Parts: sequence; structure tokens; C-alpha cells
Amino acid sequence: MPHSSSYWVDTAGTAPPDDGPLKGDIEVDVAIIGAGYTGLSCALHLAREHGIRAVVLEANQVAWGCSGRNGSFARISGGRVPLAQLISRYGENTAKQYFAEMTAGLNTVRGLIREGRIDCDAQPDGVYKVASNAKHVESLKREVGLYHDVLGYGAQLVSGDQVQAVHRGAESFGALYMPDGFSMHPLKLAWGVHRLAREAGATVHVGSPVVDWTSANGSHRLVTPGGVVTARKVVVATNGYTSTALNRATAGRVLPVHSQIIVTRPLSAEEKRQTLPGSECMFDTRHLLSYYRRLPDDRILFGGRSAITGREAESPKHRQNLQDALSRKFPMLEGIQVDYNWGGWVAVSESSLPFVCKVPELENVFAGGGYAGSGVSFSLQVGKRLAQMVTGDPHPTEVDFLHQCPKRFPFQPFLRMGQRMAYAWYRFKDAS
Ligand SMILES: Cc1cc2nc3c(=O)[nH]c(=O)nc-3n(C[C@H](O)[C@H](O)[C@H](O)COP(=O)(O)OP(=O)(O)OC[C@H]3O[C@@H](n4cnc5c(N)ncnc54)[C@H](O)[C@@H]3O)c2cc1C
Repeated sequence: MPHSSSYWVDTAGTAPPDDGPLKGDIEVDVAIIGAGYTGLSCALHLAREHGIRAVVLEANQVAWGCSGRNGSFARISGGRVPLAQLISRYGENTAKQYFAEMTAGLNTVRGLIREGRIDCDAQPDGVYKVASNAKHVESLKREVGLYHDVLGYGAQLVSGDQVQAVHRGAESFGALYMPDGFSMHPLKLAWGVHRLAREAGATVHVGSPVVDWTSANGSHRLVTPGGVVTARKVVVATNGYTSTALNRATAGRVLPVHSQIIVTRPLSAEEKRQTLPGSECMFDTRHLLSYYRRLPDDRILFGGRSAITGREAESPKHRQNLQDALSRKFPMLEGIQVDYNWGGWVAVSESSLPFVCKVPELENVFAGGGYAGSGVSFSLQVGKRLAQMVTGDPHPTEVDFLHQCPKRFPFQPFLRMGQRMAYAWYRFKDAS
């Protein structure tokens, strides 16, 4: 399928060359399924650091999934577990190790952009978690305390008055400020990593969905419409787009959750002054949070969770919900023309944390994903870690939970019903 239409597709320019659909049968050492950030970064690091020229099989186009459609925030983040909960679940030491790995992820992105000369409109650093309700300021204060006391990180609490310098309008009662984290053009970033991977020796076949997979005698037979790949090792980088039919061993380990984005017309100088004068990354403290920023051409990108099922994803009510949320924050933008609207499926694991693991039941198969909508920097880091696992390091980070393959979701048929009830409860809590 072609890329679905979006602001990113319209402004990315021309895609770098790829290797077209697979034609004929081949034998390879390593095959990677999925050409998003995870798969491309794995291919790049395999070639550059381990001398392995992997073959990437992509069903659609390079970065057709989340990597070409996201909100563009590269932060110290991965998964969606609040810091206090992370500490109580795994202890301070693991929380510190995980924070170090997430920070390494952000540095991996910076390094790729710098060393690979990826022209992806990277913006200056600065991330604000904005209190959308006065009652949330206390919990931001506690969170800043944890960043300082447990992680030794310089997050700052910004008062309601101070935050007005970067976030005007309503629903800004204070903020937690992280000095590290920036936005960029996510499709240009993906295309840049793709170019680097191919320059390093990887092959990337687009239009090559893996439609059948059998394993025997230590090798894997991946069937695509144009040919069969026989591989000794396989990396699964399909994340929120993993079909249950791909392989029994990978099925049901992530829940695809829809996230949606609108992009407005360019703001006037006055609208800009009265809403988002700067280019920092913003997200709020709601349970069903919104994320937003001003783009270099002065439009506002505004995103949040939307539909529960694929059938509902096209409904105009989700676009309207985002527009309503935008005008609640910035009343002067009520009714503003929306020029772009698209969505994608983020992958949530049972623990709401990412994984980079060996897949149980299968020999020499590795998988990475589960970033829960926070994977721009961490997926590139996971790709790098997957390359280490493929080449024989079973535990390339100090963080144990990352290397455990996610449990399957229990009670699969009732999952969407549970999600619907959770969203209704979150909406009630966010409104109160
Ligand atoms: C609307 C939206 C906003 C987001 N905003 C942010 C943000 O601001 N910051 C942040 O950190 N994260 C954000 N994310 C999440 C982030 O984009 C993802 O975590 C990241 O891109 C995941 O990359 P990936 O390579 O693992 O998966 P993907 O980019 O989804 O790639 C998976 C690929 O696998 C391919 N595939 C699937 N099945 C097969 C098969 N059988 N054969 C071959 N190929 C197959 C798909 O076509 C797809 O291209 C957002 C996501 C969405 C959807």
C-alpha cells in the first residue's frame, strides 16, 4: 500500500531509493520483518557494527507504519508507566538503569542525525508536561522530586505564570520541564536511517509482506508474494502492525491502540503569540493525554488517543474530538481549519513497557516493540540492541524486564470491551 496521506508525506520530499519488491528465492543469514525505525535501525547496526548484511522485508513502504506517521517527539521515554509506578514495580536500581537506557536511546537518535547528516528539521530541545488541571500540579511536583532524588536528573517544575511564556491559553497551570528531547520530521528521519542502512550494506525490499512462515532444522522460510527468503535468524519488527497470522509464537503479545493527529492551517503571527510561541514538545497530564507542538511552518500538530477498533478509526467524530481538545486549550483557535488528519496503531504490551527479546518457542528469532506510543527514540535504540542479540549477546542491557518476551494478553475476546470501559473511565476522570 502507498503511504496514507499526512502532513509528513506531503512535506518529506522524494523517498530515497529502496530495493523494490523481492523477486525470486534467496538465502540469508538475517532477515528482518518490518521497515520502521526498529527494523531499519537493526539492519543499520548489524551492517555497521557486526558486518552482517541483513535483508529487510517490508509489506508496504519504508516507514509505512508508526515511523512515518507519529507525533515527532524524540524524548527520554519508552512505554507508558509513570515514574513512581516504575520505581515501586521494579525498584530504584532498575528504574535508574532503565532511565539510562532511555537516555542512551535519545543519544542514539541524535548521533544518527548528526553522523548520518540526516536532514530532518530537528528542532531545539525542550519538553513540557503541562498540568491541564490545577489539581495536577502537586503530582508534577512529586514527579520532579523523583527525577532529582532517584534518577539525579535535572527536570524542573515550572509555575503557572512561567509556563505562560511557552504555553498560552487555558489548561496550563504549571509544567514539568525536561531539558532533553526534541521534535523533527519523523518520515525524513526514517528515510535517513533507511539510507544509512542501505549504504552500510543492508537490502530493503518494499511491497514484500511475509505471508507465510515455517521453521525447520534451524532455519526459517519466509514466504512473500515475489519469493521465499530462507534465513538462519529472524528479527520481528512489525510492532503494532503484527498480524496474528504471522506466527503463532508472536501472536497476541501486543495490543494495537489507535493514536490520531490533526494539523491545522498555518497560524497568524497573533495566533502564534497567543498559543504556542515556541517550538517545544508539549503533552498534558490527562489520562487520555494530548500531545502537540507548533510546526516550522506555524501550523499546530495536535494528537491523542482515538478509536478502539479499526472499523471506528475513520469516523469523523475522532477528528472532532481532537479539534475540541485543541480549542479547550487554546480557545482562540476554536473552529480553525484542519488541513490534515491521520492515525496509526501504536503497540502496547501487557506491562505497558517495551521489549527486546528472544521469542520463546522459536529458534534464533528476536523481537522488539511495545513502546506504547513513546517509541521514536527508543525504537532506534531497540534496533541497535536487537543487532547485539542477533550476534550472540542475550542480555545487551542491564534492564531485565526489557529482555523478557511480553506475556500474551489474557481474555483476548474481551480486550476491546475492557479498553472501551477504561477510556470511558479516563474520560470521566479527565473531565472532573
Ligand atoms: C499517531 C502516532 C503518534 C505517535 N507519536 C509519537 C511521538 O511523538 N513520540 C514517540 O516517541 N512515539 C510516537 N509514536 C510511536 C512511534 O511512532 C512508534 O513507537 C515507532 O515508530 C515504532 O516503530 P517500529 O519500527 O517498531 O514500528 P512501525 O513503524 O509501525 O513499523 C512496522 C512495520 O512492519 C510492517 N509489517 C507488518 N507486518 C508485516 C509483514 N507480515 N511483512 C512485512 N512487513 C510487515 C508494517 O508495514 C510497518 O511498516 C506515535 C505513533 C503514532 C501512530
